[in-house]
Amino acid sequence: MNRGDDAKLICDIAELTALFSDAQSLETLFERTVKMIAQHMHSEVCSIYLFSDAEQELILKANTGLNPDLIGKVRMKLGEGLTGLALKDFTPVCERQASKNPNFKFFVGLGEELFESFLAVPIARGRVRIGVLVVQNKQSHYFTERDITVLKAISSQLGNTIEMVRLIMAVDEPEAQSQALEQKPELKFVKGKVGSKGFGYAPVFVLDVKQSLWDRYRTYFDKVYTREDVLTAVKTTEDQLRHMQKQVEVALFDVASLIFSAQILMLKDQVFINAITERVKQGAPAVRAIIDVLNDYVKKFEAVPNAYLREKSRDVIDIGRRFLNNLVGVDKKENDFHDRIVVADELYPSDILKLYSQKVQGVVVLHGGETAHVSILAQSLQIPLIIADVRDLLRLNRDDRILLDAEQGNIYVNPSEEVVGNFKAKMRLEDELKTVKNLLVDQVSTSDGIQIHLMANINLLGEVPRALEFKAEGVGLYRTEFPFIVRSDFPSEEEQYVIYRKLVEQMQGKEITFRTLDIGGDKVLSYFDDHQKEKNPYLGLRSIRFSLRHKDIFNQQIRAILRAGVNGNVRIMFPMVGSLDEFMDAKQLVLDGIHSFKAAHIPHNAAPRIGMMVEIPSVISIIDDFVKVADFLSIGTNDFIQYMLAVDRSNEKVADLYIPYHPAVLRGFQTIVVAAQKQHKDVSVCGDMAHDPRFVPFFIGIGVRKLSINPNNMYKIQQAVKNVSLKGAELFAQEVLALSRIDDLAKKFGERIA
Ligand code: PEP
Ligand code: MG
Repeated sequence: MNRGDDAKLICDIAELTALFSDAQSLETLFERTVKMIAQHMHSEVCSIYLFSDAEQELILKANTGLNPDLIGKVRMKLGEGLTGLALKDFTPVCERQASKNPNFKFFVGLGEELFESFLAVPIARGRVRIGVLVVQNKQSHYFTERDITVLKAISSQLGNTIEMVRLIMAVDEPEAQSQALEQKPELKFVKGKVGSKGFGYAPVFVLDVKQSLWDRYRTYFDKVYTREDVLTAVKTTEDQLRHMQKQVEVALFDVASLIFSAQILMLKDQVFINAITERVKQGAPAVRAIIDVLNDYVKKFEAVPNAYLREKSRDVIDIGRRFLNNLVGVDKKENDFHDRIVVADELYPSDILKLYSQKVQGVVVLHGGETAHVSILAQSLQIPLIIADVRDLLRLNRDDRILLDAEQGNIYVNPSEEVVGNFKAKMRLEDELKTVKNLLVDQVSTSDGIQIHLMANINLLGEVPRALEFKAEGVGLYRTEFPFIVRSDFPSEEEQYVIYRKLVEQMQGKEITFRTLDIGGDKVLSYFDDHQKEKNPYLGLRSIRFSLRHKDIFNQQIRAILRAGVNGNVRIMFPMVGSLDEFMDAKQLVLDGIHSFKAAHIPHNAAPRIGMMVEIPSVISIIDDFVKVADFLSIGTNDFIQYMLAVDRSNEKVADLYIPYHPAVLRGFQTIVVAAQKQHKDVSVCGDMAHDPRFVPFFIGIGVRKLSINPNNMYKIQQAVKNVSLKGAELFAQEVLALSRIDDLAKKFGERIA
């Protein structure tokens, strides 16, 4: 080859990499790659072999100069032939007269026998085998040391991309899949963590976003579908999505946004449709054409740095599956999760809404936290959810049934009749508990007559009727972030106003505590890049810090609350306050908002009470200063524990260190409550500890008279309040506060207190 071409070659490889993003399909991409390499290496043959991990075999995936019919058919074991040898030993193999080498493997019909010079260079990432690049020439003694260097450079430049293509092409997956099915684990029981309580017993739907469409639908490649069939499937898919969108809108007015919009828009996109029909016109099988086009989209979405768009790549796969199901006419039920238990690696809040709209029976996720927003959302929607990091769950089949006991965190796979019988008895008990509504009292008091106010934590407006039905005296924590989290952009002041107004109307004068935007940590706004790059988001630009940094967004929210709160019984609460200065700055913005409305004669709530959440331990030592300026405090136990104990609340690895009854936590609570009482300021508890009956006596004992809880727990907590006397509670609190050992405290909280 012309030695002067080296520099040009490297440069062309860069160009080639750029071509990867526009290639029409993976096949054409590989075709172009081999042609380009052959041209630059002045070789008559160039081949790309990809390595299948599952089969430990190399497969010919692209070639120029040999018989194209054998692409996909030529296979070699690791170490087999010169090509297999190169990959096995991670070293180039250069032969001047390949046919003379005893290792040379001859494939009938491939036409290799004509080519004497042979050079194979492995493609690898570290010790991960990806494939082999091979060049060949008729003339013997053709390739030199320099050629080896150049081909090695190409291999290392293309390695990453080829690896990606290998994954997309799912070279491994058919085998991996069939193996997985054969060796389907004998999963019987899995213990997980409860994300959202409840029960479910239904067949499984594994939402494996990593399973390739190619693999799933390859059996339909031979079937003929016309352009009209494709367009009809588009229309059916669009109708289904619209229907689901409607359902969500009705049930979840405040957070619905357009969760299916990206998918609907994609179906409407002529470029998308044309790309498919064009391929079909040129003779490509329809199913394959659709998959190629979808894969192009997935690749594009996945490559962008913006997390929101990356998330959309899942929407593409999702819509692809639905679309293909409609085209090939698989059972309609394949398309929805209706009455199924969905098992997924991980879910986004918007996924939970989609599942809800399709009446899913329950959810198992491999990753996520109990207090993560996916769990909180599932609680609001009353979808039982368990978090269990057991990958074998993803290998279950459609006809496997799961019994989800999300009271205990137990997952039974294909349970025996006996287990199902027990579960049914338990379910009846749950049903009975649901019917205890008439046992609930309007106001609850301890056995000696001290009234404890039970408020509701509300995440979605849809929960308000239940909260009222379950006798909540007001909303003690309205997490305003949900409409922000689920949408694709910040909701405007007007949009927020409409939501808040509805809440105020529904509560009919009962107290509502609006917590201002609490995002960051595990509550990520996928459309807002700012906090996504943080290494440690829980310690980053979260909550009030975010609001104070983005005053435009904060002011819009404050204005929406003040306007919606006209005639309402409204409190405004700032989350994650860490310093007096933050509190004062935030409070000033509310006062400014009131002032400007007054000046403009715009109806608003002119005197909301302004308070804060106690979640950061720094607050404890300056709590007396806070109670002078705050109208009320509410202890957010979830974050308080997290920050006090330096334990990530969503990290399963340290779940055992997340100890609500840690002495530092309990004594911290007492300091806060005492300080508030001294100044006659309202103090409540609104984290998860408030709806654990074990802690009710302690809270009452240290002086708490208001708890804000998930409405589902109303009956349980009313009972816990009724069963304890103030005297008993105070004594218990004293004993508890005197203990320093976690073990002793654990025992104490197991006791019955009257
Ligand atoms: C808390 O931290 O306890 C709390 C109620 O807030 P969130 O769970 O929304 O962070
Ligand atoms: Mg919190």
